Amino acid sequence: MTVAATATGIGVPQAASAAALTKEERDKLTPASVIELLEQGNERFRTGKPQPHDYLAQKRASAGGQYPAAAILSCIDSRAPAEIILDARIGDMFVARIAGNIINDDLLGSLEFACAAAGAKVVVVIGHTACGAIKGAIDGVELGHLTALLGKIRPAVAATEYAGERTSKNADFVDAVARTNVMRTVQDIRQRSAVLAALEKDGKIRISGAMYQLVGGRVEFLG
Ligand SMILES: [Zn+2]
Repeated sequence: MTVAATATGIGVPQAASAAALTKEERDKLTPASVIELLEQGNERFRTGKPQPHDYLAQKRASAGGQYPAAAILSCIDSRAPAEIILDARIGDMFVARIAGNIINDDLLGSLEFACAAAGAKVVVVIGHTACGAIKGAIDGVELGHLTALLGKIRPAVAATEYAGERTSKNADFVDAVARTNVMRTVQDIRQRSAVLAALEKDGKIRISGAMYQLVGGRVEFLG
């Protein structure tokens, strides 16, 4: 069966029986075509035209095996659920969520599993506007275990070139830091995971950053 990359896969059931990605469909996708499908899914979401999800059919179709095309690392923010804002089905994507979408060894292990063992074609780090973790890092918030987590975001605050008011009250600065943080996480993944860096070098996967706009609903892929 020949399936055009733009006409199959994430969130786009082709028939009643195609409620989940098959291995054949997933393996035909390239990293670039997966990004394209994610963009199309986000467009469906933000224009209010999501696929009619039959979750029971998706559950049945994926129960025997999973062939996700993407691995997402995103923030825990309740307003940024990856599967919904990308209009994905059950089985389409791995999703790891942590405040401020930073990386640690366990998350790297999870992403390595997703790509090297389970065949996902892209890693996408999705930050978002008005992120509370970013604001906390800017403000130097200290609270239990959160202190150390925010410490991992703080270098992104210093690395953000911004001429205006550098406070958490300035939404524009907060979003600029969030963007820096996404790109630093992408670089961290490449530098700290020899497994993922090698897959990317071989063209088997792509590691990308993205920003989700809470207002408007757009996921902007940063390359
Ligand atoms: Zn957040």
